[in-house]
Amino acid sequence: MNKGRVFQRLVIFLTLALFAVLTLTGCSGGVIAPPLPTDLPPPESSPLPTHPPAATPAPLPQTGVTYEDQLVIQYGWSKNEVVRWKDGYVDVYDTTGYPFLSQVLEQWNEIIGGTVIFRLSSNPASPVRVAYDNTLSFYGYCGITKVAFKGTAIAEAEILINPFDLVCPLQSTFLHEFGHVVGFAGHTTDGGVMDAYNTGSTEITPTVEVMLKRLYELPVGYSWNPVGRELGEVLWETTKYF
Ligand SMILES: [Zn+2]
Repeated sequence: MNKGRVFQRLVIFLTLALFAVLTLTGCSGGVIAPPLPTDLPPPESSPLPTHPPAATPAPLPQTGVTYEDQLVIQYGWSKNEVVRWKDGYVDVYDTTGYPFLSQVLEQWNEIIGGTVIFRLSSNPASPVRVAYDNTLSFYGYCGITKVAFKGTAIAEAEILINPFDLVCPLQSTFLHEFGHVVGFAGHTTDGGVMDAYNTGSTEITPTVEVMLKRLYELPVGYSWNPVGRELGEVLWETTKYF
């Protein structure tokens, strides 16, 4: 028997079998339903759900908030206003004698771009004061910075440095703590000097650089969302560097 005949018989058998099944089940009164058209019309729109979908929160008014602004909001001392030093010179009184401190200040000054300039001073009443603290090792800290605000301006800062260079590489510690003093309040996780842990990195990463450049382009107290908290009169905040 050739293959054509086998196929023909198979088709006849399957047709009869299908007819028998349809008859037994009573489908369409025992008549084979006409084939469905191949070009089906699009289905009707699906029925509405019985309950409304969860409301999505309305987006915050972000008109004019650039990527640079977002970095200021994310890493600044306030999440609502521009908190930085007022334009002009900021004196730094150093009791550590760290020989590269002026270089540290220069690095931040260059990023700030001239609006505010940090400089060493011999006046103990300078708004920024730097000292070594042997006891930081007991707490596992490489450095601590306390910053005080008047309104939305940074008014004072105290830096304590763990002097044990083998445990806490000094250049990294000085750079990091001054990063907080100039206005970068948060910590990065990009391997740079503003990460929360002292790995010895002295790299000021683009996130930090872009944030600070933008911070000092904006006026003190500038706000994208004026309903936020106000920084109090001489409120101190502390950051710790491990
Ligand atoms: Zn820190």
